[in-house]
Amino acid sequence: MPVADLLQLQSPDRLAALEETGLLDTPASPALERLTRMTTRLLGVPTAVVSLVDRDRQFFAAADGLRDDLAIARESPLSHSFCQHVVAGAAPFVVADARTHPLVGDNLAIEDYGIQAYAGMPLTTSDGHTLGSFCAFDYHPREWTPDQLELLRDLAQAAMTEIELRFASRRLEEQGEQLTQLLDNTNELVARLTPDGAVSWGNAAWRRLLGDPDLSESDWLRTRVDARSRTAFDTAWRGVVEGETSATVEFVLNPPGRLPVTVTSRLVPISSKGHLRGVRFYGRDITESRRVERLKEEMIGIVSHELRTPIGAVQGALQLLGRLLPADLPARERELIALATRNTQRLLALVNDLLDLEKLEGESALFEMTDAPIADVFSVARDATAPLAERAGVVLEWNDAGAIVHGDAARHAQVVINLVGNAIKFSAKGGAVHIDAVPDGGGFRIRVRDEGRGIPKSELERVFERFSQVHRTDATEKGGTGLGLAIARAIVLQHRGRLWVESEEGVGSTFQFTVPASTPSASV
Ligand code: ADP
Repeated sequence: MPVADLLQLQSPDRLAALEETGLLDTPASPALERLTRMTTRLLGVPTAVVSLVDRDRQFFAAADGLRDDLAIARESPLSHSFCQHVVAGAAPFVVADARTHPLVGDNLAIEDYGIQAYAGMPLTTSDGHTLGSFCAFDYHPREWTPDQLELLRDLAQAAMTEIELRFASRRLEEQGEQLTQLLDNTNELVARLTPDGAVSWGNAAWRRLLGDPDLSESDWLRTRVDARSRTAFDTAWRGVVEGETSATVEFVLNPPGRLPVTVTSRLVPISSKGHLRGVRFYGRDITESRRVERLKEEMIGIVSHELRTPIGAVQGALQLLGRLLPADLPARERELIALATRNTQRLLALVNDLLDLEKLEGESALFEMTDAPIADVFSVARDATAPLAERAGVVLEWNDAGAIVHGDAARHAQVVINLVGNAIKFSAKGGAVHIDAVPDGGGFRIRVRDEGRGIPKSELERVFERFSQVHRTDATEKGGTGLGLAIARAIVLQHRGRLWVESEEGVGSTFQFTVPASTPSASV
């Protein structure tokens, strides 16, 4: 056999395509068997076979009139194969008398099976792989008429269509199984409802919460919706039934034999040709997160009103006390009062930071957006941080580059103050902190660079989280709350900017954030 033909026969792609049909070593398909029976009858030949040519054998996917031993084995080695020539040439192979044929004259099938005449048509997939041969053979030499060959070609086509259909439906089935698996392994509630509100299908999460689907009861879900959210549910349901593309609704559900759950859901109509066939339901149990949210709101209420006011009063009293202290008060008592004052200040700072963060992360954050020179922002920040820098023996270098930006200047100053404050805190005496502004995209980038202790790589993102500090002593020794960077990032995010840090331990850190330029379109 020529090398090119051998390559075609042994092509890994072709063998993979063959494997994929799922026909190898599986019971014969009745549809293919029918086609071989039609072949023997229509062509008047004793035997017809759907032969798939594998690496080193041919496998008979279906056959009619085959010798018993071959019909049972359902395969034979390539030494006994005429069909391999159909595959090698990817073309019909027709032999009137095998014994005198140059290609198959010495084929063992002549001697062992008595085959003397052969006609095979390629079984070729839509992507061009020839998997085998649809063939007829006879045990005497015979001339094949053009009609017979054409018929054989048509039957081969039909066989190929059958093979590809089988393959496609297997694929679909697999995909369907994967999809069901996926849906059963999610905690989301997924269901299909009929137009009259009965449940026709529900995934595992749905069944766990609500039991098996019940097609007999219309409005099945609605009757389990708690009375207080019935109106919201009805409005959403009516929406999708009346032609909206989807509706979202949060409601309280009373699952049979269980405590009520809060569910947020999306309803999507299933329509065909303008006809409503059903409604898909995608929902999530948010009972726990709603509870936590309520708790958090309560906590914040407590912190803001019950804690801030008394702490403020204590602080005022301590300050007054500090001023009224008699000159001869022993140093120990004096220190005690100073300690109480410092601790109260820290507590108040913490409470204020917490409240500020809540405000910034909520939807009610209010910003006064204006165009302002960065010089103004820097000037406010310089006034606020200069005393700190002086005490720490750290030099601050400011360079605003004349930039004008858009945003809430006071909030931007708050960010700079926080970054510079940190830079000072974590710098050694004699160190310098550089603050500047550089163009970035359409806006600017404000950078705060220090030569301090730096931040370990693993902590670079974590420092922006609430209460996260690189060293446990940072709160007490450096007087931080661990909320500063979380607040700074929230402010920058509200301006649609980014805040990040680059740092090398022992060398220093550079915090930087982007601010929009002073164009009206850049408003928040
Ligand atoms: P804190 O109030 O503790 O300063 P932040 O959120 O502002 O809270 O900072 C969180 C932590 O990040 C700090 O406690 C410190 O461990 C680290 N950090 C922040 N800025 C720097 C810096 N410039 N150099 C080194 N570490 C820093």
